[in-house]
Amino acid sequence: GVNKAGSPLLGRVVAAYGRHFEVETAHTIYSCVVRGKKKGVVCGDWVEMLPTTDGQGIIETILSRSSLFYRSELFREKLIAANVTQLIFVLAVVPTCNFELLDRCLIVAENQGIKSLIILNKIDLIGKDVQRQVVAQSLVFYRELGYPVLEISAEANAQLLVPFLGGQISLLAGQSGVGKSTLLNALIPVAQQATAEISDALDSGRHTTTHVRLFHLDTNSSIIDSPGFQEFGLQQLDEESLAWGFVEFRPFLKQCKFRNCRHVSEPGCRLLQAAQEGILNSRRLACYHKLMKCIKESLPGGR
Ligand code: GDP
Repeated sequence: GVNKAGSPLLGRVVAAYGRHFEVETAHTIYSCVVRGKKKGVVCGDWVEMLPTTDGQGIIETILSRSSLFYRSELFREKLIAANVTQLIFVLAVVPTCNFELLDRCLIVAENQGIKSLIILNKIDLIGKDVQRQVVAQSLVFYRELGYPVLEISAEANAQLLVPFLGGQISLLAGQSGVGKSTLLNALIPVAQQATAEISDALDSGRHTTTHVRLFHLDTNSSIIDSPGFQEFGLQQLDEESLAWGFVEFRPFLKQCKFRNCRHVSEPGCRLLQAAQEGILNSRRLACYHKLMKCIKESLPGGR
């Protein structure tokens, strides 16, 4: 593929290092910056890129996105990934499951209109202890909400995940130590991992920001990974979309006495009533209240 300088190419951003991006076109990967002071290019973006010299280029235009994830950061917003079609949230038997982080991620995924897959990793570590019961019960709850839950051991049978990845651009999330890197290493071809390592090494002198990278599994499936981010920002949500993101709240939302009910202490609130009746999980309602407070105060939640 010989490209005349001056004609823009369509490409996908496969790695983002601060202001420096790798853009993959049909034939090659270009090392790019963004035209002018325009900000907001993110891993997973489809862009129009102008090749300059020696595999370098300038990103001119960002095409419209089907989904967009932010990272939560105190007093700042950062973009993580665009055009994701599936969230993969990894929990593990060890360290203890962080269900609040899970809820937060599920709510953002719901509002981005993408599906979620929950993975319980390190099941090889499950013994006869109580912990197993706690984990299993909580995951039954999520299964009943309609989320697929997959129990795996990333070190032994990561391939169980493959049928869930076909045709998807999956975003990997979960607290550190749950086995995301182990999982990725098991799924991604070695050559790609090597390329990524070289890029990361080249980059390390220039930037300190967390990088985000898209790995190809096959021609129509990929995984986006960002070492270091653990939670998604809620900045793009308002109170109404927050409540809607809790899938089991939805049937009750239209039954409150007041149309603009915020489900805190309003009389005739159907959600509060349902929690009292025990037909709505009160932990999830408490989580909603906490996240609502974060949105109202424009603070990153879950800290
Ligand atoms: P990350 O921080 O989410 O990327 O987690 P890592 O992939 O670095 O894994 C954290 C630790 O858990 C490492 O010591 C892994 O070897 C270990 N680990 C990952 N998956 C498994 C698993 O399926 N079983 C067991 N026993 N350990 C695992």
